[in-house]
Amino acid sequence: MVAVMAAEAVAVAASNIFGLSLEELTAEFSLLKLPKFRAKQIAAWIYQRGATSFEQMTDLPKSLRDQLIELYEIRPAKLITQLDSTDSLTTKFLLGLSDGAAVETVLMRHDYGNSVCISTQVGCAMGCKFCASTILGLERNLSAAEILSEVLFVNSTLEERIDNIVIMGIGEPLMNYDNLIKFLKMIHAEYTIGLSYRKITVSTCGIVPNIYKLSEEDLPITLSISLHAPNNELRSRLMPINENFHIDEVVKAGRDYGEKTGRRVTYEYILIAEVNDTKEHALQLSRLLSGQLCNVNLIPINPVAERNFKRPSKESVNNFADYLNNRGITATVRKEMGANINAACGQLRLRKK
Ligand code: SF4
Repeated sequence: MVAVMAAEAVAVAASNIFGLSLEELTAEFSLLKLPKFRAKQIAAWIYQRGATSFEQMTDLPKSLRDQLIELYEIRPAKLITQLDSTDSLTTKFLLGLSDGAAVETVLMRHDYGNSVCISTQVGCAMGCKFCASTILGLERNLSAAEILSEVLFVNSTLEERIDNIVIMGIGEPLMNYDNLIKFLKMIHAEYTIGLSYRKITVSTCGIVPNIYKLSEEDLPITLSISLHAPNNELRSRLMPINENFHIDEVVKAGRDYGEKTGRRVTYEYILIAEVNDTKEHALQLSRLLSGQLCNVNLIPINPVAERNFKRPSKESVNNFADYLNNRGITATVRKEMGANINAACGQLRLRKK
């Protein structure tokens, strides 16, 4: 960012400083010859107290506020629309970005705390056949600031704190790697909400090289890998990315991640009636994951109007879970939330479009 030119602080245009890290704010304000504590003060106003204008920063001298107003803006994402589930446990927000793009963020009020599911891209290029987010393709990556904005927006609507973040919304986080890492470091920092890395889950459809890269970052987050099929033939049909990274490479990368970080990897498996939900599929899955420190999260499909997939019966879901558990693979069925507000990723944005 170049909002000022050396000591004269000549503004070229008001720059948006929302999303700058404390280090970046410190560097920016050093051009104005401000003492370091001002960056901390301003970061706390923006990221902890939700200030969107310098006028709100009443503990800054008036002359400084006027100077900052000339040079900078604070522009987080803005609410377009919000849908609440009938049980009030889930709220889906559609947030507007400065270029007119829209992004979905979901708040889920679990009995174990508030979880926020965030997006990392506008649309998605991965083409998974059961997913509404990819129907219109990928528009662009979200910046770290925009990802941060999703969490802070939801935080501003809550009296209590956010307990968990799941990066499972629209987009493939590991295809937006640098912005993802910057976001993770910022949301963990004391000057934002200081969330423990252990409370953050990153979900990927299996971008193998970046799974290895992530395991070297020394960030003790949970990795969740979308598998959704137990063999190459079926996985390639459901998830075209499998043509680039075959299932055995994906599971090998997951095993390596678990061994390097000591963190249990979660494998997500959407159950689709008569597609991937038979006993034979459960057997193949148990063989694939045998001996790995992991658990399987089974998700009965949330039908997408644009796709022709059916939800399996409760009995069939329970049988699949029992089969895995009996073979030593810990499997749980995800509790469904928010179906009546199109909570599956991409559905609200798609309706809006
Ligand atoms: S499931 Fe995730 S990776 Fe696959 S298309 Fe949807 S958003 Fe993209």
